[in-house]
Amino acid sequence: MTVSPPPPSPMDQKKGLGRRALLAIVLTLSVGIGSVYLYGPREPDVRIDYDVFRSEVQKGGVASVSVQGERIDGVFAKKHAKGEGKDKVEYTKFYTFLPSFGDPQLLGLLVANDVSLATRPRERSGWISTLLITLLPMLFIGGLFYMQYKRLRGQGGAGGLFGIGKSKASLYDKSRGGKTFEDVGGASGAKDELREIITFLKDPGRLSKLGGKPPKGVLLVGPPGTGKTLLARAVAGEADVPFYSTSGSAFMEMFVGVGASRVRSMFEDAKKNAPAMIFIDELDSIGRKRGAGLGGGHDEREQTLNQLLNEMDGFEPNEKVVVMSATNRPDVLDPALLRPGRFDRRITVELPSRADRTEILTLYAANKPMAEDVDLDELSRATAGFSGADLENLLNEATLYAMREERDAVAASDIERARDKVTLGLERKGMSMTEEEKRLIACHEGGHALAAARLAHADPLHKVSIIPHSRSLGATLQLPEDERHVFRKNYLKDRLAVMMGGRAAEVMLHGTFTSGAASDLHEATVLARRMVLEWGMGEAFSHVALGGERRNVFLGGEIASRREYSEETAHLVDNEVKRLLDEAFERASRILKDNRPVLERLIDALLEHEEISGPALAEIVGPADPQ
Ligand code: ADP
Ligand code: MG
Ligand code: ZN
Repeated sequence: MTVSPPPPSPMDQKKGLGRRALLAIVLTLSVGIGSVYLYGPREPDVRIDYDVFRSEVQKGGVASVSVQGERIDGVFAKKHAKGEGKDKVEYTKFYTFLPSFGDPQLLGLLVANDVSLATRPRERSGWISTLLITLLPMLFIGGLFYMQYKRLRGQGGAGGLFGIGKSKASLYDKSRGGKTFEDVGGASGAKDELREIITFLKDPGRLSKLGGKPPKGVLLVGPPGTGKTLLARAVAGEADVPFYSTSGSAFMEMFVGVGASRVRSMFEDAKKNAPAMIFIDELDSIGRKRGAGLGGGHDEREQTLNQLLNEMDGFEPNEKVVVMSATNRPDVLDPALLRPGRFDRRITVELPSRADRTEILTLYAANKPMAEDVDLDELSRATAGFSGADLENLLNEATLYAMREERDAVAASDIERARDKVTLGLERKGMSMTEEEKRLIACHEGGHALAAARLAHADPLHKVSIIPHSRSLGATLQLPEDERHVFRKNYLKDRLAVMMGGRAAEVMLHGTFTSGAASDLHEATVLARRMVLEWGMGEAFSHVALGGERRNVFLGGEIASRREYSEETAHLVDNEVKRLLDEAFERASRILKDNRPVLERLIDALLEHEEISGPALAEIVGPADPQ
């Protein structure tokens, strides 16, 4: 069977035709005019074949020829005739063409037969044809641009190809921030530092009376989604000054030269409306180290960056414009940006702490009905490592689940599912797995869970699940009592053992390794390497930090990862890492062997319920019985 695409609808055809017809006209014209002019006016009477021409020359019947390129125009000595009866024409002028393989004897032949010979340069084109030939392609391209222009105009926007230079209004958003510090949860450190800026913007005179130097450039640094953009808006909102905002990547969409002029006009406008605040989001996309880019220079970026530096240097001391910027890659920024008088004030926005998370969650839960069983503080404990944006997203997803279940309020179970979605990916509902696969996964997760339950220093066990998600087929969740900032060696060793628990259970019950442990192994290896290299926890290098491996290829700066130790040490490091991992595997195996009946009960329960948590889980694994 063959499948052919559906025929285009009449509408499509019409539109396509109109466009193509216009192109075709331009094209045929350009060829047509050129050729008519070149060859038309001097068209001699009759074209004859080359061999006829040659034999006429040999017979002495040709009086003169004139040669231009391959073309030979000639005059016969006497009249020739062509056609019959009424169509009969008599002629003396003729033309023919040299064969493409040439005829080296022709000249000798012509001379021998006394044919007078004139030659002309290959291309004899008058000024009109020259003009036409050069102009036509331009006209053609111009036509294309015109059509594009009409199309853009038709869409009713001044943007696109032709809007860039003209429209100043779309160059940046000018507004009052529209947000206040009330809209930002947590981030109290950053807020404190930013209050100074607000005070300055509100009353610029006060600072100068005290002889203080006004702040110029403030750089917000922190992981994505921690609210840097939000904070900048809030500063402008709190100070109630005009807020000019644009992002580095928006500059980069521009054509050559426009990025720089954009910077200039934004600064001009801001100065006119001072006190004001300029915010450049994603500074790293214009502010990367100059000349460090991989894959060729980026002139436009450098011009824009230079313009930005110029503008910041050009500030008069009494200018009341604060430039704020945000990035999550301060390490790739051009050092010139961080010099005094530029972005010299750096404010770090960290991932929210537990208390911060509660604050943010409360903020976003305020406009959503929450069921009785939702405990935001408990949720904040269960969301370590989530950014503000993640938390907002989490509550949104939970609302969607509640809506799907037709509840009037968001329940704890909705939030739990939403969190699984955020951390594990989408639930794979229709995934078909064989009984054996399910059993293997239950065994693997059971191994993790039991190890976590029995190891004294491991984080408390929260949930085990064999519901497949897009990023994993099963999951074991542990929740730390409190946020950890310092890791003890015994905690890390227990963590390694929990990671190995899945694999250890597979070996014990099924006598084989499976591919399911790939990410466990990867993470365990990364952790073990850090223990040895960065934290001096290897047996042989107790008090040496050998330095981590940094991988910043593609981001400028360090191109290759550097190793600061010898081959010999590298070998020892590998041994240490292997020893840590082997030991972790042994410990996990021992726990599972000692608690084999518990493991089997856990697996059966998992196969039956797919997900176990809370008291049900505690009942199976029993009270923590640290060895
Ligand atoms: P960044 O610029 O640091 O990547 P954004 O400011 O763009 O992060 O944050 C994205 C969104 O996440 C914000 O619009 C806001 O809705 C939410 N958000 C992030 N951090 C916070 C916070 N501390 N308080 C309230 N909302 C936050
Ligand atoms: Mg941002
Ligand atoms: Zn695992």
